[in-house]
Amino acid sequence: MTPAFDVSDLVVTYGGRTAVDGVSLAARPGEIVALLGPNGAGKSTLLKALSTAVPPDSGRIEVFGHDTAVDPVAARRRIGMVFQEQTLDPDLPVERNLWFHARLFGLPRAQARARIDDVLHQFDLADRRADPVEQLSGGLARRLEIARALLHRPGLVILDEPTTGLDPDVRRALWADLRRLRDEERVTVLYATHYLAEAELADQVAIIHNGLLVRGGSPAVLKAELAATALRLSTADDVVAEGELIRAGFDASSTTDGLLVRCAQPERRIAEVVRAVTVPVTEVALREPSLDDVYFATTES
Ligand code: ADP
Repeated sequence: MTPAFDVSDLVVTYGGRTAVDGVSLAARPGEIVALLGPNGAGKSTLLKALSTAVPPDSGRIEVFGHDTAVDPVAARRRIGMVFQEQTLDPDLPVERNLWFHARLFGLPRAQARARIDDVLHQFDLADRRADPVEQLSGGLARRLEIARALLHRPGLVILDEPTTGLDPDVRRALWADLRRLRDEERVTVLYATHYLAEAELADQVAIIHNGLLVRGGSPAVLKAELAATALRLSTADDVVAEGELIRAGFDASSTTDGLLVRCAQPERRIAEVVRAVTVPVTEVALREPSLDDVYFATTES
């Protein structure tokens, strides 16, 4: 099966400074892929190279089998792009913004009209079609940008930090939209985020740091790669227990996750930990790693 995108050994530099440093990453049609990493990691640059906005120094990018260096036009036709900054014309009505994009992609008039109607209904924007974009809320404007990106029926939608500045309800609605696209239309969704919670929603996560892909896989596989690194205790008095554990030489701390004792192979230390505490211990559990643990274990080095 032809991958939706296939990036191999991609290097992108800006004036001698390396922003993407030999990244390889591919996705099957219908996958949701998150690029997760701190600001400056190289996520935007990778997305821009994929969408042919920035030329690679070396490496290869294919979009549905089209090499972006050989046939950038064919590659671009398969991509719908939602940029980090808003790129709608605020003075123009919703529908005119869509017409403008349809023309850009050379859609014949009748086809453009039908697609504009489709996406307006699909994204619940039909009753706002005559309103200037500046009258839309931030959330609706984002929906319109996604709707616009889909006009030419791309198989791959690329979104750079799509939920920045949106409130939690609007974010949830946007994620529901993206999952619907994957489930109903088998659109591949690639997005950059620095929110761990948003990476959790992806089928595949690529953790990017200093231009390198430092770890990749499904959220479940990434978590499974990290062995449990802590015990979580419930006691009759966590404050007393924490003091006792610290005095006994354990790395104990009260967290929002409970009283944690961090150590290697925590399953072997249970008896020892319980013995160090004089207050009644009501529960001891291995704390399974979260995506946060994976992320921090990967990027804090
Ligand atoms: P991210 O999207 O993860 O925040 P970027 O891809 O924007 O990361 O940036 C990666 C690196 O490239 C950073 O060091 C950034 O300063 C640099 N960079 C990004 N865009 C440009 C540019 N147009 N010119 C020069 N340097 C850039």
